[in-house]
Amino acid sequence: VIVRLRPPGKQEEEADLIVEKASVNSLSILDHTFTFDSEDIFRLVGLPLVENCLAGFNSSIFAYGQTGSGKTYTMWGPPSVMSEGASSSTDRGLTPRVFERLFSRIDEEQSKHSDKQLNYQCRCSFLEASIYNEQITDLLEPTQRNLQIREDVRTGVYVDYLTEEYVSTMKDVNNLLLKVKFTCYYLKLLCSYMLNINKHHIRKFHNCL
Ligand code: ADP
Ligand code: MG
Repeated sequence: VIVRLRPPGKQEEEADLIVEKASVNSLSILDHTFTFDSEDIFRLVGLPLVENCLAGFNSSIFAYGQTGSGKTYTMWGPPSVMSEGASSSTDRGLTPRVFERLFSRIDEEQSKHSDKQLNYQCRCSFLEASIYNEQITDLLEPTQRNLQIREDVRTGVYVDYLTEEYVSTMKDVNNLLLKVKFTCYYLKLLCSYMLNINKHHIRKFHNCL
C-alpha cells in the first residue's frame, strides 16, 4: 500500500492545517517530509507492474480515496495531460507512463528474441462501476449499461460483453481515452438530468403532501 499526499488546494491553504507545505513540491507532517513527484510514483508502482505483467502475472492498481484526494491526478495526471493526450509532460500520471513502458518493453523483448517470433497482444477496456445504482457501464460502448460480472474457472473474473480494443501504440491508447472522456461527459450530463427530474418529482410529491 502506498499513501500519496497532494499539495493543499486554495481553500485548504487558508484553513488551519496539520499538513504544511514545506516547499513547492513537498509537504510536512510533524517531523516527516513528503514529496509528490509523478516519476517517483511510477518507479515505485508502475515499473514493477509492467515487469510483473510481462512475467505473466495479473496485476492491478487500485486508487482509493475520497473525491478530490488525487486519484485521477495519480492515474492520469493534471487535466492538461488528459485533454492533450499523454504528452511528454513531467506531471503525466501512471497510466500514460505504464503504457509507454509496456510498449517499449515489448519492442525490446521482440528484438532481443527475434529468432523466436514473439507475439504480444494488448487489449484495453474501460468500465464504470456505479455504487449508486450497482450498474456496470462499458465506457467504450455506452449503450451497454448493465453488464454482469462472471467467473470462469480457467481465466478468472471477467465482465460479460465488455468491449476490448487492440492497442499497440500510444496513439491508439489516446484515441480510446478520447472516446472514454466523451462517454464520461455524456454520462455526467445524463446523471445530472435524471437527478433534476427526480428532484422535481420529489418536490412535487412533497407539495402534494
Ligand atoms: P479525485 O480524482 O480523487 O477526485 P483529483 O485527482 O481530481 O481527485 O484531484 C483533485 C485536485 O487536486 C485536482 O485539481 C488535481 O489537479 C489536484 N491534485 C491532485 N493531486 C495532485 C498532485 N500530486 N500535485 C498537484 N495537484 C494535485
Ligand atoms: Mg477523479
